Amino acid sequence: MSFALRAGETVAATLPPEAAGLVFIGRIRTPWTDRAACPRQGRPDGPVCTLELFEPWASGGALDGVEAHQRLEVLYWLHLARRDLLRQVPAAEGRSYGTFALRSPLRPNPIGTSLVELLGREGAVLRVRGLDCLDGTPLLDLKPERGSFRPPAPPTPGDAETG
Ligand code: SAM
Repeated sequence: MSFALRAGETVAATLPPEAAGLVFIGRIRTPWTDRAACPRQGRPDGPVCTLELFEPWASGGALDGVEAHQRLEVLYWLHLARRDLLRQVPAAEGRSYGTFALRSPLRPNPIGTSLVELLGREGAVLRVRGLDCLDGTPLLDLKPERGSFRPPAPPTPGDAETG
């Protein structure tokens, strides 16, 4: 399936939509270099961390308008996690759970998500609070928080069906 570009849209050379490969759009800087010291989930009062965008997302316009959003969903690749566990026993639990019953980093596609507060932007660097990943974790995507986001386009019939 191909989508025509509209006036005002710009593109980067990247993977086709049907390719499952991911592109790292940046790198996350946090105070944590050791998994044991890393929080299990980000906290609203956690330390300030930074999202450093790579080119072409850094200066190509992909961040335009992001400052309008106080909260962002951040998706990242938990690059040091093993990917083969079907069941796992969380530390200090002593009980086995199915991988998909947990938010553990150990999963077939180790994607982590956090809702963060956007504190500021300096060029291609965003300052945020609310992360829980190791320093150097690859950044996959950024989206405005679902609850507060209002699509810039008028509603479509499908919006009514899904509520
Ligand atoms: N908030 C995300 C989520 O719910 O999808 C991630 C939660 S996961 C439980 C967070 C833990 O993953 C951290 O406490 C740390 O042990 C581990 N972790 C953080 N960064 C990692 C990385 N780059 N590779 C592997 N494990 C990581």
